[in-house]
Amino acid sequence: MHVLILGGTTEGRVLAGLLAGAVRVTSSLAGRVAAPRLPAGEVRIGGFGGAEGLAVWVRQHGVDAVIDATHPFAERISFNAARAAATAHVPLLALRRPGWVPVEGDDWHEVGSLAEAAAALDGLGERVFLTTGRMGLAAFADRPEWFLVRSVDAPDVPVPARSEVLLERGPFTLDGERELLARHRIDVLVTKDSGGAATAPKLTAAREAGVPVVVVRRPPVPEGVPTAPTPETAAAWALARAEEAAAPPPPRAPRATDAPAGL
Ligand code: NAP
Repeated sequence: MHVLILGGTTEGRVLAGLLAGAVRVTSSLAGRVAAPRLPAGEVRIGGFGGAEGLAVWVRQHGVDAVIDATHPFAERISFNAARAAATAHVPLLALRRPGWVPVEGDDWHEVGSLAEAAAALDGLGERVFLTTGRMGLAAFADRPEWFLVRSVDAPDVPVPARSEVLLERGPFTLDGERELLARHRIDVLVTKDSGGAATAPKLTAAREAGVPVVVVRRPPVPEGVPTAPTPETAAAWALARAEEAAAPPPPRAPRATDAPAGL
């Protein structure tokens, strides 16, 4: 049994740890982060060359099941995974951590894209904490506000004219986020609905400080792809596929043409 995990997330790394040892596991990383935390099992890095390239890789490496454990906003690779799995006739599961939900006291402004998030800043404040990742910074390049841009690696696209870049990787603490909002006198927070605990404290800190939050909604999971909310449930799915693969084929029902026993 060979499971391909499309990774780049904490959950993908945890899943690889759960499966390694029980089945053959290969984690695939896009190669965006300079020094990624490597998962257990085999690792490959870099794109496949679209859905066709992924289907070829799956066939050539004897992959029996694919788990798309990419970030909820990594839309293209999830779409490619759905197409490739259908082409290569292998089962596919999407591991998606649940999204965040607003609670009492939150002042959320939900939008459908980074462009809409940039437009939603009108009137919300002068000092923005931008946590949507360096890849989508172009959407904010022409905004007049001051930005605190937090990302794992240094942005390689133009940042807003008035900004400071903070290079940090989660998990983040509530105390740290409270201190950051206060020190930079943040008026508004912008985030994707990434879900998960590692980056959630900023939402609590914003609520406590009465800071409005512009939240970019998630793209949908490709149609027909089943989802699991945790690495544990995704691992159970993969192990069930392994059991199916190992089970002997069901006994064949006798046919009229079968010779009688003893002849
Ligand atoms: P994307 O737009 O969905 O994918 C763009 C291309 O990158 C894909 O077509 C594929 O290239 C390659 N790719 C993406 N994920 C890959 C993987 N796990 N293994 C091999 N190739 C991969 O993805 P993205 O938003 O740029 O994100 C890239 C990676 O960063 C993802 O793995 C994701 O889990 C992680 N990440 C993304 C975000 C985010 O906010 N988007 C946040 C944290 C982590 P080919 O077509 O050549 O195969």
